[in-house]
Amino acid sequence: NSGSERPVIKQLDEAAINRIAAGEVVERPASAVKELVENAIDAGARRIEVSYADGGKTLIRVVDDGCGISGADLPLAMSRHATSKIDGSDLLNIHTFGFRGEALPSLGAVGRLTIKSRPEGEEAFTISTSGGEQSTVKPTALSGGTIVELRDLFYATPARLKFMRTDRAEAGAINDVIKKLAMAEPHVTFILRDVSGGGEGRVVFRADAEIGDLFDAIHARLRRILGAEFAENALLIDAEREGITLTGYAALPTYSRGSSVAQHLFVNGRPVRDKMFIGALRGAYMDFLSRDRHPAAVLFLEVEPTRVDVNVHPAKSEVRFREPAIARGLIVSAIRHALAEAGHRASTTVAN
Ligand code: ADP
Ligand code: MG
Repeated sequence: NSGSERPVIKQLDEAAINRIAAGEVVERPASAVKELVENAIDAGARRIEVSYADGGKTLIRVVDDGCGISGADLPLAMSRHATSKIDGSDLLNIHTFGFRGEALPSLGAVGRLTIKSRPEGEEAFTISTSGGEQSTVKPTALSGGTIVELRDLFYATPARLKFMRTDRAEAGAINDVIKKLAMAEPHVTFILRDVSGGGEGRVVFRADAEIGDLFDAIHARLRRILGAEFAENALLIDAEREGITLTGYAALPTYSRGSSVAQHLFVNGRPVRDKMFIGALRGAYMDFLSRDRHPAAVLFLEVEPTRVDVNVHPAKSEVRFREPAIARGLIVSAIRHALAEAGHRASTTVAN
């Protein structure tokens, strides 16, 4: 025939598979930071310290005081589809950030990854990968918790390297990820350090664990992250409809912004991007704001895991509600109610 050879089907090796998967999970340094900090939160950490150099391109380090990984489990933690968070029989009932078991192997495929860990009452061990090749597990020194270090992200995938933006832009994206996760975890201390050039570096963001009940703690945390003006203009939201609860803070219309930067929705503690949410906010503030102004709100929606699918995208920033109309209706009515009450209070104060 034509002389061209019939293509042969081959099974890809593990390193290639991980590199392909990494393309979806790890878009840029900030997505690596998100995966690592979510792992620390899942591990029950009370203090999470993130360092980066050169916008995260040369170094990302996450230190936590969570439950740790035992030496025997380290090779598994680095392997694909290995997770301690679900048993696979119940994909509908997910209570942790992670469950795919993809982050660490993906990061190990696109950078030089080292994990040191020490669960309570055990010895400390370390493992590393480079170019998808796993080292053996070795003893190391560590007093507790876990340190994950990712160096030279995308060194093995030059095409991806080219798509990275300036150090400044990548650092900004890391900052946004940390602040977003910190909003939902007010009882955890977060420290972000720029260690470009070595040494102790410079603290770029710090939020110490807040004390008090969850509402007070979240209010204090939002003051830290969004500023005093937001905190002083924020109305408490606490509502429920058909088993879905909505809590958080929505700002008075007077604290509107020129963009949607101060709109944050968390579904079961997970930060999500959702058009429904943006639409619901617009609806709630319709009578109070012109179209070019954007309301500010940080809201936490809690719904039984079976009523929302978080397994839409590997980065899990999208969700699918089984009953989007209920969620939307709840957001609109809860905010309208809070705004009406605030308006009422304001007008009676004036009348008296
Ligand atoms: P997933 O989070 O989806 O389970 P990962 O690849 O992110 O997958 O992590 C694999 C496993 O490694 C986790 O299930 C967990 O058991 C363990 N692990 C990862 N990071 C940490 C950490 N910081 N502290 C304790 N265990 C961790
Ligand atoms: Mg994970």
